[in-house]
Amino acid sequence: MTTTAHDITYRLEQKRRVQADFPGPKSVALTQRRKAVVAAGVASSVPVFVADADGGIIHDVDGNSFIDLGSGIAVTSVGASDPAVVGAVKEAVEHFTHTCFMVTPYEGYVAVAEQLNRLTPGDHEKRTVLFNSGAEAVENAVKVARLATGRDAVVAFDHAYHGRTNLTMALTAKAVPYKTNFGPFAPEVYRMPMSYPFREENPAITGAEAAKRAITMIEKQIGGEQVAAIIIEPIQGEGGFIVPATGFLPALAAWAKDKGIVFIADEVQSGFCRTGEWFAVNHEGVIPDIITMAKGIAGGMPLSAITGRAELLDAVHPGGLGGTYGGNPVACAAALASIGSMEQYDLNARARHIEEIALGKLNELAAEQSVIGDVRGRGAMLAIELVQAGTKEPNPELTKAVAAACLKEGVIILTCGTYGNVIRLLPPLVISDELLLDGLQVLAAAVKANA
Ligand SMILES: *Cc1c(COP(=O)(O)O)cnc(C)c1O
Repeated sequence: MTTTAHDITYRLEQKRRVQADFPGPKSVALTQRRKAVVAAGVASSVPVFVADADGGIIHDVDGNSFIDLGSGIAVTSVGASDPAVVGAVKEAVEHFTHTCFMVTPYEGYVAVAEQLNRLTPGDHEKRTVLFNSGAEAVENAVKVARLATGRDAVVAFDHAYHGRTNLTMALTAKAVPYKTNFGPFAPEVYRMPMSYPFREENPAITGAEAAKRAITMIEKQIGGEQVAAIIIEPIQGEGGFIVPATGFLPALAAWAKDKGIVFIADEVQSGFCRTGEWFAVNHEGVIPDIITMAKGIAGGMPLSAITGRAELLDAVHPGGLGGTYGGNPVACAAALASIGSMEQYDLNARARHIEEIALGKLNELAAEQSVIGDVRGRGAMLAIELVQAGTKEPNPELTKAVAAACLKEGVIILTCGTYGNVIRLLPPLVISDELLLDGLQVLAAAVKANA
């Protein structure tokens, strides 16, 4: 088996080691302190506090080491302490922490924009704006699309996740926990059926047919000429790692182009080598008008961006876009270093290598466990959908039990899905083969023990 990870050196030993009775005393004490001061609405899925993290390993404050198959939700693709990122952050922070790009600009912001314009799909003239969070990027992509088109309506999809701010809550599909009792929501958001191969009533429906279904509904319910933007995750994240049928995205993008609708690819979770390409749209050669980015962009430092056609972004009047912290200089330094590491280690190849290893193991497991209804994903964005044995009935109880069993053995895995029945794998792309295989073996044992 080949690996391209041999040139990656780790600071921490890459080994899973957990005591029988964690959380240990320090994590328990910190949890008590936390409960007294941190709002209950912020929940953590793992009951330990972190002391250190590197490569595919997270150390807690009591000396336990966990295999990280979540990357802090697809963020630490280059690891949580990539030496290049750490060095660049130290260097930047010694000079200036902030000036505000809208007051006194600095080179790092421009350099990140150059990189994003180079790496995003399409060789048209592009412009970039930097922000802090994924939700903020989505908000701004919609602002630009509305201004540039002079239209109001925004189309989103079933199972979509676009964030937790008011507009992005409206775009997000799932009520609990993201929306319930947080309304009223932003108007002029319309939801259309997604292509979800595993749950299609007619399993033979093609991507083009699924696109036609959505397009017909848009035409009947809104009217193509009223639509400012279609926003879609090329592979849906929180909604369940749903990979639309081949042809779905190209057909939607082509129709949007025809109608003068801005096609926004929300690549906040799927971008930056996660799927084995710089962006998930590249798998089908789709060229979005605007692409939203965050999570994996800066090795864990808070940064987000929109990159899009120059004529769209330059349509906005001076001062119409921005924010106090957007494109913070330290975060920009981290992004440049992180992109450098992605190229140096060829993390696209590494993500495809992870797919090869993990998909093989997951398919083997699915062949013998009828509680696994579907195995899907691309690169290092992979999932299994758990069902009542031999049916398509979602099995969220089993999903919770499997995640808990993995954690007990020292493997951090995340769940997702509209029905809460999907286990998603998002390992750091620099994880070693040994650690990945160990994590997968723990997952397999957990499914077998709980099925
Ligand atoms: C996480 C996510 C967001 C929101 O990003 P935040 O940084 O949490 O605001 C938006 N879109 C997608 C696809 C995401 O996965």
